[in-house]
Amino acid sequence: MHKDIATPMRTKEILKKYGFSFKKSLGQNFLIDPNILRNITESAGLTKETGSIEIGPGIGALTEHLARSSKKVLAFEIDQRLLPILEDTLSPYDNVKVVHQDILKADVQGLIETEFKDIKDIMVVANLPYYVTTPIITQLLTKRLPLRGIVVMLQKEVADRISAKPGTKEYGSLSIAIQYYTKAETVMVVPKTVFMPQPNVDSAVIRLTLHDEPIVNVDNEEFFFQVTRASFAQRRKTLLNNLTSQLPNGKGVKEEILEALDQIGIDPGRRGETLSIEEFAALSNALYPIIN
Ligand code: SAM
Repeated sequence: MHKDIATPMRTKEILKKYGFSFKKSLGQNFLIDPNILRNITESAGLTKETGSIEIGPGIGALTEHLARSSKKVLAFEIDQRLLPILEDTLSPYDNVKVVHQDILKADVQGLIETEFKDIKDIMVVANLPYYVTTPIITQLLTKRLPLRGIVVMLQKEVADRISAKPGTKEYGSLSIAIQYYTKAETVMVVPKTVFMPQPNVDSAVIRLTLHDEPIVNVDNEEFFFQVTRASFAQRRKTLLNNLTSQLPNGKGVKEEILEALDQIGIDPGRRGETLSIEEFAALSNALYPIIN
């Protein structure tokens, strides 16, 4: 076993050797605690049959743990300056492929097909760049990649919103968007001291396990998400108020919306934050013929 990259001393050594300076705009907060890395890797349930996808390997702190526990690692890094460093730090591992691309622009599906040919178990494991956590997670899910799950470090505030239950102040359209595809759990809350440099916000690790079967039946997914966003547009407003003011021609079909709510047994005076995902599915299926 090689010396861990993620100790404060080794990290400083590597940064100094390459004269590397952190770019805040790329969300560069590197992990310097091997225990946290072990916890992240264990939460992902990796085996020697797993293909791991990492977003933003940095200097390879998490990558080497993934390499030790997976069959193969595919790591997307946007910052060109890190490529020669990764070549050096990851030289002991022959099962890592670093791709110099922005994850939001990369053809992830195509790369899975070529790089993970004989691999069936695929996990995304990453310490995400905080400026783009939500777009990254939603893109991975809406692209319907063949993943078992996603284990990522992100801002605690976003983790709380993703795993929130109805009736809480954190519950919103993001909770529903993610829970539509996955079971969401917060695995641990992480202190700022495990990063270099330390971020301004608290962090947490979440695990998203993709549902084998859809948990609700939705006639039109795009419209389902449109209805959930509309229902949370102004949290103090009633469901009816939000629906009529946010949906196209909502005011013109107010009576039909009221009738639909009555039919599915949802009180128009409730607030969006009290509706379960099942109720949002029933609501969007009932409203679809009225609005479209
Ligand atoms: N995995 C390393 C660790 O835990 O120490 C670094 C994590 S750091 C929070 C985020 C990493 O993502 C940085 O290396 C950064 O350059 C990279 N990054 C930022 N935006 C990216 C993007 N759009 N696509 C791929 N990598 C990105």
